[in-house]
Amino acid sequence: MASYTPMIQQYLRVKADYQDAFLFFRLGDFYEMFFDDAVNASQELEITLTSRDGGGKERIPMCGVPHHAAPNYIEQLINKGFKVAICEQVEDPKLTKGVVKREVVQLVTPGTVMEGKGLSDKQNNFLTTLTDFGDETFGLAFADLSTGEMHTTIISGPVQQLINEVYSIGAKEVVVEDSFPESIIQMLKERMIVTFSYEQAKTIPQEFIHLVDKLEQEKLLITVGRLLHYLKRTQKRSLDHLQPALFYELDHAMKIDLFSKRNLELTETIRSKGKKGSLLWLLDQTVTAMGGRLLKQWVDRPLIKKDQIEKRHEIVETLMKEYFTRQEIRELLKEVYDLERLAGRVAFGNVNARDLVQLRKSLSQIPSLKELLAGLPIDMTSVLENMDECTELTGLLHDSLVEQPALSVKEGNMMKDGFHEELDKYRDARRNGKTWIAELEKRERELTGIRSLKIGYNRIFGYYIEITKANISTLPEGRYERKQTLANAERYITEELKEKETLILEAEEKIIALEYELFLKLREEVKGFIPRLQKLAKAVSGIDVLQCFATISEERHYTKPSFNDERKIYIKDGRHPVVEKVMDSNEYVPNDSWMDRENEMLLITGPNMSGKSTYMRQVALTAILAQIGCFVPATEASLPIFDQIFTRIGAADDLISGQSTFMVEMLEARNAIVYATQNSLILFDEIGRGTSTYDGMALAQALIEYIHDKIGAKTLFSTHYHELTTLDQELDKLKNIHVSVVEQNGKVVFLHKMKEGPADKSYGIHVAELAELPKELIERAQSILEKLEATPEKVNIPQVREQSKDPLTQLSFFEVKEERVPNDEKLNKQEAQAIAKIKKMDLLDTTPMDALNKLYEIQKLLKTKK
Ligand code: ADP
Ligand code: MG
Repeated sequence: MASYTPMIQQYLRVKADYQDAFLFFRLGDFYEMFFDDAVNASQELEITLTSRDGGGKERIPMCGVPHHAAPNYIEQLINKGFKVAICEQVEDPKLTKGVVKREVVQLVTPGTVMEGKGLSDKQNNFLTTLTDFGDETFGLAFADLSTGEMHTTIISGPVQQLINEVYSIGAKEVVVEDSFPESIIQMLKERMIVTFSYEQAKTIPQEFIHLVDKLEQEKLLITVGRLLHYLKRTQKRSLDHLQPALFYELDHAMKIDLFSKRNLELTETIRSKGKKGSLLWLLDQTVTAMGGRLLKQWVDRPLIKKDQIEKRHEIVETLMKEYFTRQEIRELLKEVYDLERLAGRVAFGNVNARDLVQLRKSLSQIPSLKELLAGLPIDMTSVLENMDECTELTGLLHDSLVEQPALSVKEGNMMKDGFHEELDKYRDARRNGKTWIAELEKRERELTGIRSLKIGYNRIFGYYIEITKANISTLPEGRYERKQTLANAERYITEELKEKETLILEAEEKIIALEYELFLKLREEVKGFIPRLQKLAKAVSGIDVLQCFATISEERHYTKPSFNDERKIYIKDGRHPVVEKVMDSNEYVPNDSWMDRENEMLLITGPNMSGKSTYMRQVALTAILAQIGCFVPATEASLPIFDQIFTRIGAADDLISGQSTFMVEMLEARNAIVYATQNSLILFDEIGRGTSTYDGMALAQALIEYIHDKIGAKTLFSTHYHELTTLDQELDKLKNIHVSVVEQNGKVVFLHKMKEGPADKSYGIHVAELAELPKELIERAQSILEKLEATPEKVNIPQVREQSKDPLTQLSFFEVKEERVPNDEKLNKQEAQAIAKIKKMDLLDTTPMDALNKLYEIQKLLKTKK
């Protein structure tokens, strides 16, 4: 190290503290990177790698970016999950001898971005921290640095819950202790792009003590402490906008685990991982960015308390009816700026006068907004109470700032006349000077008779008198002092003009300095309002989301759901909200869903692409919409309140990762089986697909039986194993339904309509027939199918075996109506007689002895050879 130049030595000293980040080292107008950072950055950012002599034996790899372009490059690195330490010169190079002092002023990390494309308007950017307390107990805290909100909880029990929660928060960065279990880190990394950072401290930094007043548990304090220390260490600036940490409990919301959220495409689609096409996309009729963020939080966390849900429904219903009020509310909200993020930027000190003017504009909407809400025909007190107009602040901003202030805070032109006496004085001086100049221009024109004479100003020469070449001959010799010659004009000055210029410029300078000072003072005052602004922001976002629900419910003809305590699902003419929207609602075929304690499970069969998956999801999404407080896509709906929803897709159908294996499928199924209660909703979509037919089918059946006997959760189970449709004879709470299909003009048409009973089984062969495959081939397929059905021994499932022996299961595709029609030809005479005998028996009028006798008779009949 000793042989390196002093600057490189300084670099290495700084870098030692920031091993996990790219160090942007300020050198004049550039941020330079050296050594490995340079090599890696040049690849990541596609910039040229050079080298420089650093005093050592070998040249040092180097690359750099101009300082004005740095935000762009930093953002690229952050989006790739890296961190960037920004090291600035903290002394004026002109005033120092030797190496200028440099310090890291900020560590930018994926969880702490404050601006730029990395920060989406309608999404929170949560920095998360985890603490392992042993015994499967974890502390979790997360904060959004841009809005200042902070939440914390304790999660005990299986790690899966923790993973689900971190996923649902959408954490981009997770801060842990060195000793945090590597296995969990790996699990998280497998499922999402997440950067891990380390922070050992677990106390609460002194200046943040007030943020944790309300936290009672030691574990929460330790967890939040780590988060705050990390923020302090990385940000090195004012964090006055951080809000007190709010404790929440997982059990206070409907639980939807990671797989289910993905499968149901709640906030992003499976294919593109984007918002478009998701439930959130469909719903998002919010007007403000903060409303958009709150909507996402609500979708991620449906409520489970009936009174809370009904409160939302009540407001939505009212807003839906009060069409004009709702339109007016929307208009007002359009003028409301992102108050939460603004508060964050006020704390950081990076707002300008234009931002504050927008704040003023936002605040001035609040009284009208409150008036509209108060006029609604329901009690809005609880909402109105939280809507603080911040009247003093509005007044202050009104008195101080002009309508259209300058973008830069160092150019003046921000403060109103009359706001500050001294400022007014300088402005007078400047104005007088300018009037004097205007008069001078007029006077000189008259005196010289040159009508085109004019007085101009530029930064280099200051004020000048300009006379075109054509008029110079008429100008009295020596009247002005020549200053500059242009192609077709001469520019002059006079002693007097220069004197005034000095006065004007001095006034100008003072105005700029004073306005800047006044602005900083104003900004400090706004800072004092941050907590009130944040509270207001929450109230406004809430109204925004509720008007969004009303808007979407009206637009898409949703209906207000009711809740029952009998664990009954009754949905009339239900639709899948997103599929319906995407496909133009006229084509969507609505379907009813009817489940109760006698019908806990639906076994859904039907050909591919007939609408099984859509139907199942439609039920889950309806439940979620209801529980976030929105209306639902149906003409009538009565639902239980679900505590959890599980959605699983068989591996072969799993488009999500492409890497999904049968093991994953089973792991996911296991979670549902272990955690579901009778108040849960389970969707199993073609589970068991990922393995060979018989063991997949065996597993599917065992799953159905287990849920049926042990859990009693409402379950929709779609399957391509037709053998399972006979299960309804064993399991009394299981009902078969199928998707109806018809043939029209030689084509198979999916009606997407659910019907009772199992689907036809030889559907595939019929489709092949319609597709005009050779007759011979079709016949061969038929006979193979028959043979397969006649030799069920390979299937090791008792019920299936029993049933498959029964030739009645072979149903002809186009004959399927409501009831199965026995194919008499395949029964021999004795069998037909036996069945007839059984059918004729009147069981109510039969003694056990009679029954035994009859049975003996029937058996004898069947044993006789044909
Ligand atoms: P399956 O799971 O039976 O293979 P899907 O549920 O994936 O079938 O549905 C296939 C396609 O059929 C969907 O993408 C959708 O376009 C259409 N579809 C499904 N249900 C309906 C419906 N009720 N009305 C109209 N079209 C539907
Ligand atoms: Mg499907």
